[in-house]
Amino acid sequence: MQAVGKSQSKGSGIGRHITVTGVLFSFAVIVAVVTVMVLTALERVTENANLLDDERSRETTIGAVKTFEDQLGATLDDYAAWDDAAANVYAPDGMAWTVSNYGEMSVNSSLFDVAIVIDGEKKAIMTYRDGKPMEEPLTDFFAPSLWVLLDRVKAAGPADRPQAVGFVTTKRGIAAVGVALVREKSGALDAPVGQRRYLVFARHLDDDRVTALGQTYVIGGLRLAPPSFAADYRVPIVDPTGATLGKLVWTSRSPGDIAYAQVRPMVIQALGLVGLFFVVLLVIGWLAGRRLRAEEGSAREEALRDRLSGLSNRDGLGLAVDRFVVEACQAKRNVLLLYLDLDGFKEVNDSYGHGTGDQLIRAVAAGLAVLIPQGAVLARIGGDEFAIAFLSDGENAAALQLAEQILDFLVEPLEIGRRVVVVGASIGIAMSPLGAVGREELVRRSDLAMYKAKEAGRARMMLYDPSMDADREQRNALELDLRMAIESGDLTLAYQPLIDASTHAMTGVEALVRWNRPGHGPVSPELFIPIAETSGLIESLGLFVLRKACETAKQWPELNVSVNVSPGQFRNPAFTDYVRYVLKQTEIEADRITLEITEGYMIQNPQRTRQSIERLKGLGVKVALDDFGSGFSSIGYLRQFGFDRIKIDRSLVMGVNDKRQREMLQATVALARSLDIPVTAEGIETEEQAIAMRLFGCDCLQGYWFAKPVTSDLITEMLQERRKAEPAARRHVGAARPAA
Ligand code: C2E
Ligand code: CA
Ligand code: CA
Repeated sequence: MQAVGKSQSKGSGIGRHITVTGVLFSFAVIVAVVTVMVLTALERVTENANLLDDERSRETTIGAVKTFEDQLGATLDDYAAWDDAAANVYAPDGMAWTVSNYGEMSVNSSLFDVAIVIDGEKKAIMTYRDGKPMEEPLTDFFAPSLWVLLDRVKAAGPADRPQAVGFVTTKRGIAAVGVALVREKSGALDAPVGQRRYLVFARHLDDDRVTALGQTYVIGGLRLAPPSFAADYRVPIVDPTGATLGKLVWTSRSPGDIAYAQVRPMVIQALGLVGLFFVVLLVIGWLAGRRLRAEEGSAREEALRDRLSGLSNRDGLGLAVDRFVVEACQAKRNVLLLYLDLDGFKEVNDSYGHGTGDQLIRAVAAGLAVLIPQGAVLARIGGDEFAIAFLSDGENAAALQLAEQILDFLVEPLEIGRRVVVVGASIGIAMSPLGAVGREELVRRSDLAMYKAKEAGRARMMLYDPSMDADREQRNALELDLRMAIESGDLTLAYQPLIDASTHAMTGVEALVRWNRPGHGPVSPELFIPIAETSGLIESLGLFVLRKACETAKQWPELNVSVNVSPGQFRNPAFTDYVRYVLKQTEIEADRITLEITEGYMIQNPQRTRQSIERLKGLGVKVALDDFGSGFSSIGYLRQFGFDRIKIDRSLVMGVNDKRQREMLQATVALARSLDIPVTAEGIETEEQAIAMRLFGCDCLQGYWFAKPVTSDLITEMLQERRKAEPAARRHVGAARPAA
């Protein structure tokens, strides 16, 4: 069985492995995809953030350049549209003013570093740079685009401001340059067009200024680069003609990158945690699943195990036998199956309680486990039923030998706690040669053989024989008919007179059940009573007999009535109740009834027997020990059970001619009488026997010599004849009964 269980779990183990790997893989893929998606999204955000920031930087830089230009323009406007300037610059003696207010102002000024006054013909009137007169001619210092500015100023209409600003290359670099007409603040000017003078300011976009711009506008790494310089981030500086003079370039702050760099590890950690969480979940789930499956496995094994004994149960045995049958087929061997039923287990359970019963089962299981051959399977398949299956190369010999050993083992009294109990066993054996007989049939055969062993008398073993099947069939049919007979009241009673040993008068009758089986004729109670016992029919049968006997006996007030009670009835705790019920129902005097019980049951269950007898006697009925001397009983029992009468068995009476047997019979009767227990002798067939039994001390006799069992009508007739013969006074019940 274990092998089967193992291979099953192995198979599902591979499947489990595949699914776990599959799920793990799926989780890994999901986590990876989610990671990629999140990182991609983050990169997008980063790019956007960078772009936005670069755009801002560009706009700021453009603004800065514009402001640089505008500042120069504003300064230029202040200086050029100035009443004092209009007065002095045009005056012949105005040079000193011009130098001190324009030229010399170009030193250390943040507003302009070159100050020049020219006329409309581009002729320099004053040139100052950094507070000092400039050496080189204007055309050497400035790029020609300066003149574009001058032209614009000159071309300005009356409504326009006569001023132009733009970037121009100079010898020193790139400068914001402005040209403005020198005029009164109001814009008015006396000088004619040909004599007009223009103020030129230049402010160089040198490194310091670019750096300062960068700082002011928070543009990292802002610097001036040549036009050819390749850079991602740039704002061109264009002169009035549209030519690019240079570029302002900066390094991108890439705030997205920074944020990304900060966030990325956190995101990866978070995703890692999520992944880990899933893995942990999966592992927990897997472990839980594994535990469940393990529990399932052990539950499966448990389901094949008998809790009490720890042996296999019926299902476990079934699996094992199936396996053996297959093996036997393949290996050309035989399967042997023993079915074993404990005799007297019920009695142990009844009298000592289930605790002791359980201990007994365990003790027997342990004993059997030692006896069985290697590789055999031992199972408990019912309350007190065991089975042993094994493979053998030989035929029945091994099973017979084992059965013998088991019977020997069980003959010994078993010590259970402080008690010593004796149980026997009935064993049935069946064989499946070369596995030709399947499990079901094999089980049926050994069960049947066991049943036969039990029937044949306990503590036996029986090999299955095909004739048993026919027996069983007959038996089943008989059982069915018997059930119907009981139900339809087809059973009748015969009454056998009980005779007073000294007067030979009929003092009572024993009720004996009769069954005329349809299609078969009369069936002996010795045949159908045991069947009624094992098939549970005995209770209704017994009740029928008791009621019928009591009802019938009402017409015979002078007679006692004996009724047989089988162990099956006696064992029933409700037996006393139904006797009481019948007594009440039939209104018969309880002391006229004698219940006859056999000793078989008492031996196994003395305590309970005593109790039952006490309760029955409490009802007023008498209790007799039937078939005394046929079994195991010793006279010692009689005392403790308080029997009202003993019936000496027919087999003893028959032996009255044998010296030894006669002596024993004599002693038995004497002993009973010494205990003050009256004795009946049954089965008297000859006058000799009658005389002998009377001599030995039996006060009551029964047997064919006096009368066979007869119908109730015949008994009534017999009584009527007696009444005629006897004086009326003697017809009294008490007088007819033997002295107790
Ligand atoms: P038992 O209780 O020992 O009943 C006496 C049996 O011996 C009866 O057989 C009776 O016919 C027979 N018998 C009487 N005198 C003689 C004789 O001189 N010679 C011979 N050879 N036999 C004689 P029966 O009626 O076949 O009953 C057999 C057994 O069946 C009874 O043995 C009793 O144990 C059982 N039985 C009969 N009726 C009932 C019943 O109503 N209930 C129960 N539980 N058992 C019954
Ligand atoms: Ca009897
Ligand atoms: Ca008897």
